Amino acid sequence: MATTILGGGIAGTALAGALARTGDKVTLYEQQHTGSAGGAFLFMDDRGHDALTGLGVNADALNAASRSTLGMDYTNSAGVNSSRPNSGHRVWLRANLIAVLREFLAESGVDARHGARIAGLEVESGVATLHVDDHPVVAVVDELIIAADGIDSVVRAHLEPGRVPVYSGDVVVYGMTTVPVELHSPSEVLHFYDEITSRGKGSTFGHIWSGDSAALWFLRLPRDPLPSDDLGVRPVGEWAGEIQAATPSNTSLLETLLARTDSVHVSNARSLPLDNATPPNPSILLIGDADHAITPAAGVGARDALEDAHAVYQAITRGESPAEAMIHRRARLRADRERAQRLIRQSTGRPAST
Ligand SMILES: Cc1cc2nc3c(=O)[nH]c(=O)nc-3n(C[C@H](O)[C@H](O)[C@H](O)COP(=O)(O)OP(=O)(O)OC[C@H]3O[C@@H](n4cnc5c(N)ncnc54)[C@H](O)[C@@H]3O)c2cc1C
Repeated sequence: MATTILGGGIAGTALAGALARTGDKVTLYEQQHTGSAGGAFLFMDDRGHDALTGLGVNADALNAASRSTLGMDYTNSAGVNSSRPNSGHRVWLRANLIAVLREFLAESGVDARHGARIAGLEVESGVATLHVDDHPVVAVVDELIIAADGIDSVVRAHLEPGRVPVYSGDVVVYGMTTVPVELHSPSEVLHFYDEITSRGKGSTFGHIWSGDSAALWFLRLPRDPLPSDDLGVRPVGEWAGEIQAATPSNTSLLETLLARTDSVHVSNARSLPLDNATPPNPSILLIGDADHAITPAAGVGARDALEDAHAVYQAITRGESPAEAMIHRRARLRADRERAQRLIRQSTGRPAST
C-alpha cells in the first residue's frame, strides 16, 4: 500500500520508517529541515519505548541516546509528599530522540521531503490534493494519508475545522544547565514541587539531575497565555524574576539552576479535546498531537503519539483498518486520561490541569 505521511515529528517519522521497512511506498512531508521544536527535553515511560521498539527502532540506540530515571518524587507546600518507583521512564533531549528517528528513517527507503510545508488540502471526488510550498501541487489518489502534523494540524483544520486547541491555563518554562550541578535532592529522580497558594493551584517546579550531566528543570506557571512573539527560546534573564516569585519554597535551588542556565524554552500549554471529534476518516487519518494533543503537564503526549503510530502500523501490516485502530486508540486514551485525573486527585488533593 502507498502511504503519504504529513508531518515528520515524533510519530510521523517513526511510522514512516516502520512502514517503508515492510516494502511499502511511503512519502513523508516535513516542514522543518532539522529536528522538530516544542520543548528541549521530554520524559517517556516504558509504553512509549515499547511502541518504538515495536516499530523496529533499535533498543540499544534508544537506550544509548537517553537517560533512565530512578523514580518520581512529589511534594507540595502544604506538606504532602509521595514517591513512585521508576516505571521505565527515560529522559530525552528532544534533539536526541529526533536524531535516532531520523537515522531509522534514513535507512528505510522513505521518500522523505524535509523542508516541504503542507499549505493546504482539498478533497474532491475521492481525490486528495496537497498544496506543498515551493513544489507543484501533488494529487494523491487511492493512497492512505496519515496526518501527524502536530497540534496545529493543517489537515485537521480541513477535516474538523471546529476542533481547535484550548489553552490549559499554564505557561511552561523549560531550562537546562550549561554545566553539571550537585544538588541536595537525590539525583536521577524526577522531582515535582507544587506551590499551594490561598487561591488554590500555584506553580509546579520540576527538576532532574545527575552528577555528570546537565540538570534539566521546568516550571509551570498558572497565568494568562503569552503572545506568540514571546514564545520559543528566550534569554533566562527575561524569566528569572517571575520564576523566583512563583516558587517561594525553592528559592535557593532555583538560584543555583538559574545561575547555570543561559536560555529557556517557553510555551503556552495547550490540549486538543477529543470530546467533539468526528470518527476517524478511513482515507485521511489523524494521529498523535494532530488528533489528541494533551498539555505537557501530563508528560505523555509523545508516548501517546508513538502508540498511535504503532497501532496504525500493526493495522496496516495485518491488512486491518487503520481507522478502526484509531477508534480503539481513542478509547484507550480516554480511559488513560480519566485514570490519570483520579490518581492526581488522590495524591495531591486537587484536580489536574487539562
Ligand atoms: C514544552 C513541552 C514539553 C513536553 N514534554 C513532554 C514529556 O515530557 N513527555 C511526553 O510524552 N510528551 C511531552 N510533550 C508532548 C510531545 O512533545 C508531543 O505530544 C509529541 O511531540 C507529539 O508528537 P507528534 O509526532 O504527534 O507531533 P510533533 O512531534 O509536534 O510533530 C509534528 C510535526 O509536523 C510538522 N508539521 C506541522 N505542520 C506542518 C505542515 N503544515 N507541513 C509539514 N510539516 C508540518 C512539524 O514541523 C513537526 O515536525 C511536551 C510538549 C511540549 C510543548
